[in-house]
Amino acid sequence: MKVLVTARLPEEVLNRIARDHQVHIHTQDVPLEREKLLELIGDVNGLLCTITDRIDREVLDLGPRLRVIANNGVGFDHIDVKEATRRGIPVSNTPGVLTDATADLAFALILASARRVVEGDRLVRNGEFKFWAPLNFLGMEVSGKTLGIIGMGRIGQAVAKRAAGFDMKVIYWSRTRLDPALEHMLRVSFSSFDDLLRESDFVSLHVPLSSETRHLIGPGELSTMKTSAFLVNTARGPVVDEKALVAALRSGMIRSAALDVYENEPELSDGLADLPNAVLLPHLGSATIETRTRMANMACENLLAGLAGERPPNCVNCDLLPQAEPHIPSLNQIDS
Ligand code: NAP
Repeated sequence: MKVLVTARLPEEVLNRIARDHQVHIHTQDVPLEREKLLELIGDVNGLLCTITDRIDREVLDLGPRLRVIANNGVGFDHIDVKEATRRGIPVSNTPGVLTDATADLAFALILASARRVVEGDRLVRNGEFKFWAPLNFLGMEVSGKTLGIIGMGRIGQAVAKRAAGFDMKVIYWSRTRLDPALEHMLRVSFSSFDDLLRESDFVSLHVPLSSETRHLIGPGELSTMKTSAFLVNTARGPVVDEKALVAALRSGMIRSAALDVYENEPELSDGLADLPNAVLLPHLGSATIETRTRMANMACENLLAGLAGERPPNCVNCDLLPQAEPHIPSLNQIDS
């Protein structure tokens, strides 16, 4: 069958797919152009895509032979899953394998923003480090502070585990409250959304992007936060109203923000890059050799299962598909 892989992946993964399938790989390290995707999708049976590919109704209309969409990532807000489901196409993601890497990065951002790591690095490089002084370049202590986690799923829980090592008080708000035994084990307590914003020294976002979570943090929420608070976003950019965030950082409504993701990625809202109290990373959450290798292998497993007419192990919509089993295109739809 024909497979389109929209990004460079480890060689062994590509070889595995190529063993039984005809693979077109987009080998450059820039995203596959939209026009090219629309051109190629026509005879593709299996799509292995990434966050930089918008898989919407137009793509699905032009890809009538698609029998599986395997995303190389856990967040799948760039895929119109509802449309794919309506067409009987299983969509899969890569949950779990990137949890630790992303939680590590969220914690790196907490530490970097609180202790002004990036600002300090810039100062040294600019030749402005002239002397040590008791009141110079003070940040905020992380140990013992209150961390508010919004979205207590896999990554949220992994961040809570890290916070325990820093003796932080961890409160959380999420759609589903955790089992009390798990709350006890993680040393976290459930909070209302507003109380979390009011009480937290650090607010870390870990919800998926959906119509419910878009602009979850806007002007009202930012004004509810402490003026000394830090906002950390490793979830998805549009969860935060970025223009409102820039205004809040400028006016001192909150102290600092540390972001891995942006509302209109890779573009930044006006003024964001000029703010000394913002730490900005280029969407690095899962970017370790170990994690990216695991993600590619997982996406490959899902793709191969879908091509074989089986349920991909990490299917996000299989329970909703019209038939119990994923749709299998008729023989005349499948390339020889
Ligand atoms: P997860 O295990 O599904 O956790 C998401 C949590 O958010 C769950 O507890 C979920 O509640 C909760 N939630 C969902 N919708 C909500 C809503 N409307 N209101 C309140 N809570 C809601 O996902 P994960 O593996 O932790 O990943 C979380 C997100 O991180 C991904 O979706 C992705 O966008 C992002 N991410 C970013 C990077 C990066 O490179 N920066 C890397 C990995 C992941 P339920 O338990 O009720 O479902």
